[in-house]
Amino acid sequence: MSTAAFDATTHDRIARLGQQVLTGADLAREDGLWLFGLEERADIFDLMAWANRIREHYKGNRIHLCSIVNIKASGCSENCRFCAQSAHYQTAAPRYELIETESLLGAAEEVKANGVTALGLVAAWRGLEEGPVLDKLCEQFARLRDSGLARPDASLGILRSQRVADRLKAAGVECYNHNLETSPRFFSQVCTTHTYEERVQTIRFLKRAGVKICSGGILGMGETREDRCELAFALKELGVHVVPINILNPIPGTPFAEREPLPPLEILKSIACFRFILPRQEIKVAGGRTVNLRDLQPLIFMAGASALMVGNYLTTVNQPVEKDLQMLKDLGLDPAWDRHGFHDQEAAPLRLRNPAPKPEPVSANA
Ligand code: SF4
Repeated sequence: MSTAAFDATTHDRIARLGQQVLTGADLAREDGLWLFGLEERADIFDLMAWANRIREHYKGNRIHLCSIVNIKASGCSENCRFCAQSAHYQTAAPRYELIETESLLGAAEEVKANGVTALGLVAAWRGLEEGPVLDKLCEQFARLRDSGLARPDASLGILRSQRVADRLKAAGVECYNHNLETSPRFFSQVCTTHTYEERVQTIRFLKRAGVKICSGGILGMGETREDRCELAFALKELGVHVVPINILNPIPGTPFAEREPLPPLEILKSIACFRFILPRQEIKVAGGRTVNLRDLQPLIFMAGASALMVGNYLTTVNQPVEKDLQMLKDLGLDPAWDRHGFHDQEAAPLRLRNPAPKPEPVSANA
């Protein structure tokens, strides 16, 4: 038995902050930073217990599921240093051009058979502007919407104008994924071919068009805890609806191939901190969970996750959907079978307190 003195101060402060979030008050930035800095196992489990309570309070017992299909793979002009699909790196990721509508509808039938109600169409390229590719995509979104097989979501990179966002909305896109990836400070260590501000501007276009926003980031790229906290508050200020948390799965051939994996408890603590800062949003655990969390995957829900990406990721394999569904059943959680209307989230105003800083030079070991 441990003889170490029990630190009631930390325990009490976590409980006080948990109660504060339950009563609807926002977490202050300094409190968020303090939570991200917790080190002791017992404190992290205390934090998770509160994050679980906050999830149940705001999100109930239901876990939203979504899947993605890669509609155009690899050969991307951008140099995101974690990405297997960048043309800047030699990786084993498959490469193909825009898939045809019939293949897309086949993928939608498959996800529907798994009980998944949202299908994100993802393309590996810089982004979208007016032209024949946008015309073709809008036709595909309309076909998917009219088929009733799945909610048409998208992740198509940087948008160059309000008009592109408006056209996607008119074609049926309900939710658009565009991750901030990390903090404004660390972003230039991750990518130098586009800026953090271009990502924020894309989100602004989409919000004005009335599209729901799915935006989060990747943990374990070498960022600090402060960077993770900054990311969470930036997402809050942008008023995003779904927050995907990816954990780096280092891909051979990419500059981040040798990054040290984060300890599982650090990942679970980070998820819990995101739940404290973003209590009403869907916190969705996405890429990298199987390889980084292994047998601890069920604990993501105790850490506050309310959504799960199921099926394979863009370039890596996930555990079978049946296993995920069994995991939810064993935990007493219900997959949300209906289409997510986001009615449980307040309309969040667009405000961003910190402008993006000027890009920093990429360090030699990044
Ligand atoms: S823009 Fe997307 S597809 Fe292209 S390198 Fe970056 S993460 Fe990969």
